[in-house]
Amino acid sequence: MDKKPLLSIEDLRIEFDTFEGTAHVLDGVSFAMGRGETMGLVGETGCGKSITAKAVLRLLPEPPARIASGNIRFMGEDLLRKQEGEMRQIRGTKIAMVFQNPMTFLNPVFTVGEQLTDVILAHLRPGERKGSLGRTQIREKALDLLRDVSIPQPESRINSYPHEFSGGMRQRVLIAMALSASPELLIADEPTTALDVTIQAQILRLIQDLVERHHLSVLLISHDLGVVAKICQRIAVMYAGNLVENGGTSQIFRSPLHPYTRGLLNSILKFSKREWEAQPIKGSIPNLIQPPPGCRFHPRCLERMCVCEKEKPISLEIEERHWVSCHLYS
Ligand code: SF4
Repeated sequence: MDKKPLLSIEDLRIEFDTFEGTAHVLDGVSFAMGRGETMGLVGETGCGKSITAKAVLRLLPEPPARIASGNIRFMGEDLLRKQEGEMRQIRGTKIAMVFQNPMTFLNPVFTVGEQLTDVILAHLRPGERKGSLGRTQIREKALDLLRDVSIPQPESRINSYPHEFSGGMRQRVLIAMALSASPELLIADEPTTALDVTIQAQILRLIQDLVERHHLSVLLISHDLGVVAKICQRIAVMYAGNLVENGGTSQIFRSPLHPYTRGLLNSILKFSKREWEAQPIKGSIPNLIQPPPGCRFHPRCLERMCVCEKEKPISLEIEERHWVSCHLYS
């Protein structure tokens, strides 16, 4: 990894005010990723993956969300100290995001070409004024973006409406929009969850291809360890607002350290003894208004000890760039 991380998050704590009380949704999350790195953020629904991503883009609804402490640095700059105008510049141009359901973000009454044009104009770099690019140049740029994400026959498809595209093609269009300003970091939040397995594989191949061609860094958020393993060099595992393990993909698969990571791996369907078997993790994610004391995983952990119910484990580096937060290693 580049000595200076592209993105680093330190001890991030986020709280949400609800009618029932304050939910402690992120409880001291820290990780860093380098330029050109692909990192997967995995965990069950509600563990804080998407909140982490939205915090990076400062897209949390404040209130009810509140960043209680911590910092987020991107390209050496503290994002939490930026004015909203500066953040608008960073969103899209330096950090872009794609989401699970492209139809929510595509306007059904405008063609794909019109929407791409709007995004291209919105992200003109300093020095490129509106009007300095002619209509032909903007159309060419939109076509290049569609070609870049392998939309077939872009010259005719540019005039189509979103409903005329399949789910996989709409996700490609959203990725094309995200890439329009050549961002440094792409955050992809469950980009393949709504797609069938074959299309999922195509979108993951596309992201991997873009990483290689554009030296893009990707933070891929998924509940599916199998999905992130396909394209990510590193995996960070989250549980109930804590980051419990962070390591290289082969480290995580070869020698998972945290009982929750081992549980996630066991819950992936495996073919053994001529049968498909999976061992789901018993129990459910805790209430974050009154989270369990000590290790938040202890009510579900088969290896818990007395200390686990009292003290929150600290993060320890067990092998090079492989960290775990668990009392089994302290
Ligand atoms: Fe299990 Fe204790 Fe480790 Fe938590 S700290 S995962 S309860 S062994």
